[in-house]
Amino acid sequence: QGGIRFDNVHFAYDPERPILKGISFEVPAGKTVAIVGPSGAGKSTISRLLYRFYDIKQGAITIDGQDVRDVTQSSLRSVIGMVPQDTVLFNDTIAYNIRYGRISASEDEVLKAAEIAQIGTFIRSLPDGFKTMVGERGLKLSGGEKQRVAIARTILKAPPILILDEATSALDTTTEQEIQSALDIVSQNRTTLVIAHRLSTVINADEIIVLRHGEIAERGTHAELLEQNGLYASMW
Ligand code: ADP
Ligand code: ADP
Repeated sequence: QGGIRFDNVHFAYDPERPILKGISFEVPAGKTVAIVGPSGAGKSTISRLLYRFYDIKQGAITIDGQDVRDVTQSSLRSVIGMVPQDTVLFNDTIAYNIRYGRISASEDEVLKAAEIAQIGTFIRSLPDGFKTMVGERGLKLSGGEKQRVAIARTILKAPPILILDEATSALDTTTEQEIQSALDIVSQNRTTLVIAHRLSTVINADEIIVLRHGEIAERGTHAELLEQNGLYASMW
């Protein structure tokens, strides 16, 4: 369940400047496809279109054969879990921010998700800038920690489809490995689209798509692309 298809998708934020120029690819249900390529190639745009922050006018995006434009925003968001590059937290506890993934979850389930994402120790904390009548200040979370809150939320929500837009910001190696292991757990047996900035994350993808200037320059598995000795191989 949750197979994704992009069919000849064109997109531009500004009509004068095409960003995606006829992109077609498929993420079969339960598989993982990684999109790599230079900055500005249009990678994040693909994830935003799937989540319908924007609608396309040319081409089609379907989930299990259904055009995403025919699905309500709320049902789309119930089947897709998005771990964005930049997580904006609600002005509430970390626990609430995680619970938002599934409001009916028990305390134990929230804690378990937090532990998998390795933020169990500060689940009761408040995010930075939290305002109360006595002027209490929250805990300053790093970008990586905020991302782990989003991961915990997604673990709890357990949606059939995952969009992982990896942070470009340099995370330290330990944090990166911790995040990666949490992401590996969530993406198991789920249809996963990874906007990959860290090459280490794409090695096991079922397909890697190399995007350049809004077009698919190369595609294949890690081994196939290395064999081709093109743009992908040069990134290593
Ligand atoms: P990537 O993820 O590959 O770095 P993006 O999809 O973020 O690329 O962006 C592709 C291009 O679209 C970039 O040139 C970027 O400046 C432009 N872009 C991204 N978001 C917007 C937006 N909201 N409005 C206008 N241009 C945008
Ligand atoms: P821009 O590049 O112009 O900021 P985005 O694609 O980032 O555009 O966002 C488009 C809209 O979706 C904005 O209204 C933004 O607030 C919202 N948005 C962006 N990212 C998220 C997210 N991860 N969760 C919820 N809403 C988001």
